[in-house]
Amino acid sequence: MTDTLPRASSAAGPTDRPTPSLPARAAGAFADLDLLGVAELLPAAERARLGVLHDLLQAQVRRPSVGYWNREEFAADLLPVLAGAGLGGLQLEPVSALFRGLVHAEVARADLSLSTVVGVHNELVVGLIAALGSPEQRRELLPRLATMELLGAFALTEPEHGSDVAGGLATTARREGAHWVLDGAKRWIGLATVADFAVVWARDVADGQVGAFLVETGRPGFRAELIRNKIGLRIMPNADVTLDGVRVPERNRLPGAVGFAAVNTVLRHSRAWVGWQAVGLQLAALDVARAYALDRQQFGRPLAAFQLVQHSLARMAGNAASSLGLMVQVARLQDAGSLEMGHAALVKATCTAHARETVALGRGLLGGNGMTTDYEMAKLFGDAEAMYTYEGTQEVNQLIVGRALTGVSAFA
Ligand SMILES: Cc1cc2nc3c(=O)[nH]c(=O)nc-3n(C[C@H](O)[C@H](O)[C@H](O)COP(=O)(O)OP(=O)(O)OC[C@H]3O[C@@H](n4cnc5c(N)ncnc54)[C@H](O)[C@@H]3O)c2cc1C
Repeated sequence: MTDTLPRASSAAGPTDRPTPSLPARAAGAFADLDLLGVAELLPAAERARLGVLHDLLQAQVRRPSVGYWNREEFAADLLPVLAGAGLGGLQLEPVSALFRGLVHAEVARADLSLSTVVGVHNELVVGLIAALGSPEQRRELLPRLATMELLGAFALTEPEHGSDVAGGLATTARREGAHWVLDGAKRWIGLATVADFAVVWARDVADGQVGAFLVETGRPGFRAELIRNKIGLRIMPNADVTLDGVRVPERNRLPGAVGFAAVNTVLRHSRAWVGWQAVGLQLAALDVARAYALDRQQFGRPLAAFQLVQHSLARMAGNAASSLGLMVQVARLQDAGSLEMGHAALVKATCTAHARETVALGRGLLGGNGMTTDYEMAKLFGDAEAMYTYEGTQEVNQLIVGRALTGVSAFA
């Protein structure tokens, strides 16, 4: 793998001052892409593909994403890079969970918002339709989703029901002949303003069962309003969605999505995917902090020469490596078909907590320059907050772990 870590000069600031005497990559045991040599577990072809992807994302996504983030603008121009790298159909490829996870980490290392686009697309839209859709839905949608010609949104959370959405979901579906009529509201829905359709979760008024419907965003009664002024994930357009008597044909219902257990078969894996995002975000923070510590001089020496600065770097690396180690085992469970919700909640809660501490250490290490996205760390700092909350908050995932450990539900 070439140029594993960004050059100190490119990550250290907007001026891109040359620093020829400084090491451009970590040495010895940490010279690898991922601190622990995890990529070595992949077959040679996948390892090579991961290396190519790393270089592509670092060259074409990482730097440009900062401008989109500052402007709070969806980076539509960068989607062809992701699609061209085959990321639209990642979920459909017969690859190991470890390869898929490391790919998600590399996308997050370049930009968390675009990683969320790729993750939601694969885990919550493509994966959902592949697992729970009808043969016609799979035949019509999956090829066009794989090329990212089509984009979907995943609409579960509601303004009045976030953590308690499993029991509280209030959006309704009413059968009228060959159609369903949907009424309700959704909040925080990623991509809803730009997607071609949304997977909307609604409760059948006849039997109270939760189901999922493919709702084209152009249908009368569907409205998506952008949520502005976010402190993180600023490239991902999240929206408030209203469904006002939206009519969809029966063929738009996902036949396999019956009851909340169906949602959980999907959330189990998407929750684990957030753990990979946390790995990527922490590797990005370490890239930036390490380069900055080598470049920035105080008291006549680079910051890297101070013990307390090395303490921060070592702690960041320890957090990132711990997260990575957990995710390697999760990938093994996924491949064995034995990942449970308790596992997914454990790694989501743990890896995002590690990430929150890692970016805080990194932000501190950059001093005042940690306050501006010109040095990238402030962007990582804000993005970690979003990741800490979506796919179940810290507390909710801990409650899932607690229930799995004790058999006692402490949600309410
Ligand atoms: C950036 C972003 C992107 C998102 N993208 C999507 C998306 O694409 N699709 C989608 O459907 N949803 C999405 N979400 C929604 C996300 O899943 C919810 O925000 C999350 O589940 C929390 O719900 P809430 O915001 O309503 O918080 P609340 O449920 O109101 O929680 C508020 C606080 O109370 C705590 N709390 C709640 N219940 C308990 C309890 N029993 N015990 C202890 N503490 C508790 C929570 O942990 C939290 O700290 C996104 C959210 C964000 C922020």
